[in-house]
Amino acid sequence: MKKRLFIYTTLIIFTGLLCFFAASVYITHTNNLNIAKYTVIETARICANLYNNDIDVSAFVKVGGDTRITIISPDGAVLADSRPLDVGAMENHLNRPEIQAALSDFPTAHIRYSDSLGVDFIYYALKVISGNSYVFIRAAIPVAKIDAYLFQSLPLLIMILCIVTLFCFAFSRGMIGRIIRPFGSVEQNLRLLSSGEYTPELASGSYDEIDAILKGIDEVAQVLLLSMTALREEKTKAEYILNNIGDGIFAVDVNKNITLINNAALDIFNVTPDIAGKNLNYLCFDKALGDAVDDCVHNEKATFFEMTHNGRIYIVTVKILPGTILTMVILSDVTDNRKNASQREEFFANASHELKTPLTAIKGFNELVALNNKDKNICKYIDSITRETDRMLTLIGDMLKLSELENTQDINPESVSLYKTANEVRGVLSAAIDEKAINFEIIGDAAVSAEPGHVYELMKNLIENAVRYNNQGGRVSVTIKRDRESVWLVISDDGIGIPTEEQTRIFERFYRVEKSRSQRNGGTGLGLSIAKHVCALHGWRLSLKSKPSVGTDVTVEVTQVRHIDKNPEI
Ligand code: ADP
Repeated sequence: MKKRLFIYTTLIIFTGLLCFFAASVYITHTNNLNIAKYTVIETARICANLYNNDIDVSAFVKVGGDTRITIISPDGAVLADSRPLDVGAMENHLNRPEIQAALSDFPTAHIRYSDSLGVDFIYYALKVISGNSYVFIRAAIPVAKIDAYLFQSLPLLIMILCIVTLFCFAFSRGMIGRIIRPFGSVEQNLRLLSSGEYTPELASGSYDEIDAILKGIDEVAQVLLLSMTALREEKTKAEYILNNIGDGIFAVDVNKNITLINNAALDIFNVTPDIAGKNLNYLCFDKALGDAVDDCVHNEKATFFEMTHNGRIYIVTVKILPGTILTMVILSDVTDNRKNASQREEFFANASHELKTPLTAIKGFNELVALNNKDKNICKYIDSITRETDRMLTLIGDMLKLSELENTQDINPESVSLYKTANEVRGVLSAAIDEKAINFEIIGDAAVSAEPGHVYELMKNLIENAVRYNNQGGRVSVTIKRDRESVWLVISDDGIGIPTEEQTRIFERFYRVEKSRSQRNGGTGLGLSIAKHVCALHGWRLSLKSKPSVGTDVTVEVTQVRHIDKNPEI
């Protein structure tokens, strides 16, 4: 910048001086010309006044010196000339513009080329009456002579021009240096800003305006320094948290290049930090992960799936990092949870099996005792044992069903009519329906591809709840609707409903809103858990809408696309 500023300033000064010089030369030349014209006119007038008939014409014109005096007869013939010329051989001068001007009594000076002397002259002629006739007296000065002084002083002028130019160069150089110098130190200081080593800039003291600019830059730099320090601290904190988090986290840009990766993710994929900047393929070849990242990068679609890597099970979440174009991948290790869950399930199944056999025996013995007993007091106890063993057997039955559903790897689907299944359930629950005088209806029908036993369990548990948690004379309706994509099964009742805060928990196993009432009604706390597992196994969507004292709607959406989630609890 300094160099360019210097070149521009120099050029401007030089051009200015040159223009001034040229203007001076032009003005001097014009002045000289006017003076020369005036001299020629004066000389012609003096000569005209001095001229008379008796004069020796040739002696008269000799006084000319540099000034050329010519006497011309009325017919244009040259009578005499102050220059040593052969007047007899000279051309007729009547047509010369200065002679024509004199002839018309409006004499004017003319600059033109002299054929006789071969140079430019300023001519002026006067008509002088002499006796009965007249002559023209013409004075002329060579044009070259008028600028003789100018040309003589030109070298001196050019020298002065050069000295002034050099002086201006030196002055402008010094001045530009003084203006630029403070900016140089500001630049160096700003470079240090990124490393946080900025020191406040002091006023240069040379120019007020520059001091004001430096002060402004200094204030902005200090604000920047504070923001950068705060940002650096935030970054350190974020990096600390990211690197000490248990889940593996990494982010990729639109080209699937890794832009960020934490320590846990480095351990999961057994790579070093220099993986940052490389393509996702360098990190992992898993197709599901690659597809999910692709889908997120191109369609901003968030995905949640399970992945097994190096013998560990991960729940992988792929989603766009809000406010950025980065795709985040979070890997949560659920291997231990799964192990614990499967141990719990195993215990659950074993305990149920172990309890079922003695309970069945107790039930059998109790029935035998009931047959042979006539004592009314003992009958009371026998009824109590019958009720409790039935409840226990129902509970164990539900536990075994749940355990069986959890262990089901695949299903054998058949076409199942939802209407027929609902009707079958109505038959099984007819005693309870009649006892509460429930208005029961089944509307519509549709066939779904599913395992019949599972559909029966699903509908039995949902319809049983609708009857069980209903009021005397209540209404239960099973509505079956379909469109091109899905089938909807809606079980509605106008019973006691479920408080909003309980609605998210009722799908947990053994969770009951009111334990005593549920137990009294024969509930085990496993019905909705079984329903949830059936839906998860078939890839159906189960949802519930309920309002206390108004009723409950449970909806199962059966989609054509089947997706098996064997672990709906996670
Ligand atoms: P339970 O065998 O006790 O009925 P569920 O898992 O089937 O267990 O249901 C869990 C709890 O949800 C029940 O205890 C009950 O309080 C509530 N519940 C389920 N369905 C209904 C319904 N249709 N109306 C009111 N409450 C319901």
